[in-house]
Amino acid sequence: MHNELETVFAKEGYRLTSPRRAVFDVLHGSESPLAIAVIIKACPDVDRVSIYRTLELFTRLGITEIIPFGWKQRYELTSPFKPHHHHLYCTNCGVLIDIHSQKLEQVVAAIAREQDFQPAAHKFEITGLCRHCQANIQ
Ligand SMILES: [Zn+2]
Ligand SMILES: [Zn+2]
Repeated sequence: MHNELETVFAKEGYRLTSPRRAVFDVLHGSESPLAIAVIIKACPDVDRVSIYRTLELFTRLGITEIIPFGWKQRYELTSPFKPHHHHLYCTNCGVLIDIHSQKLEQVVAAIAREQDFQPAAHKFEITGLCRHCQANIQ
C-alpha cells in the first residue's frame, strides 16, 4: 500500500513524510470513515496542524474523500487504497454500514449513459435508522 501511495506522491512532487504515513495508516486500518478528532487521537506523535494539512493534501490528490454526515464530515481512503463503496448511516447511534452494490453502480452508469455524460465520481449515502435503533424507538 505504501508503494502505491509513494507513487502518487512522487508523481505530484511530494514526499511521503512520517506524519503523512501515520495519517494514511490510521485511515487504512479503519473499517469506516473517520472524523478528524478520531484521526488526531490516533496519531499522538503528529501535531494537529500537520494532520489538517495532510488531510487537505490527501483530498486534493484524490487519496481521501470527504464524506458528509449531517453537519459533520469524515475522511475515507478512495480506490485503489480502499475499494469503492457507499454507506448507510444511522442518525440515532451513528453506526456506519458499508454497502458494496453492483446494482447501484449499474444504475449510476446507466443514468450517466442516458445523459451522454462521462462520470468521474459519485456520492451516495443513505441516512436513517439501523435495525437496532428501529427496535428501540418504536
Ligand atoms: Zn442506530
Ligand atoms: Zn458507487
